[in-house]
Amino acid sequence: MSLKKYKIALATQNKDKIKEIRKILGKKFEIVGLKRFPKIVEDGKTLEENAIKKAKAIFKITKTTTLADDSGLEVKALGGRPGVYSARFAGKNCTYSDNNKKLLKLLLNVPYKKRKAKFRTVVAIIFSDGKLKTVDGVVSGYLATEPKGSSGFGYDPVFYYPKLKKTFAQLTTAQKNKVSHRALAFTEAKKILSQSMTEVY
Ligand code: IMP
Repeated sequence: MSLKKYKIALATQNKDKIKEIRKILGKKFEIVGLKRFPKIVEDGKTLEENAIKKAKAIFKITKTTTLADDSGLEVKALGGRPGVYSARFAGKNCTYSDNNKKLLKLLLNVPYKKRKAKFRTVVAIIFSDGKLKTVDGVVSGYLATEPKGSSGFGYDPVFYYPKLKKTFAQLTTAQKNKVSHRALAFTEAKKILSQSMTEVY
């Protein structure tokens, strides 16, 4: 008996993300490719707005269940910044290192207890009937005082994860993928998709 797969479109072209999401979703889900990926301007004021915008743009083309995510780092001492502006915190065309430097400068001399930070991912799901749902995944930690580690990307070298006493950039990909905001949000999305799947088949 062949296993019926649930077709999913993803609103990303990032190969690493696709690989990570494929792993989380597992064998019951088939990620469908897009011949042409539309240009989507991520100009929302929240992660949720951006995730929904991306999901809608892809759903319009594929008409199949679509997942889209948007992530950011929220630093408590900065009132939740950079948040939705995480990618371009230090300005247009800035590098990850520029962003980290700006963040460390802003938090200079701020004591450990006041350096709380969270990575957040919002996943928007649009089901094949057009219904929309969002879920989020959050991982809590502290802003380090200097960058440490070389794996991962973005703010990983300055995000200290106290449970493992390491920055995210000091974790292996497998370790990070067990606890990350993205993994948590997509695991939740998988749960919801699996429930809707039993209603479909
Ligand atoms: P995106 O929505 O996944 O493209 O993330 C937007 C920005 O948030 C990235 O450019 C990074 O600066 C930051 N970011 C998101 N997820 C991570 C992560 O897992 N580690 C480090 N930085 C991240």
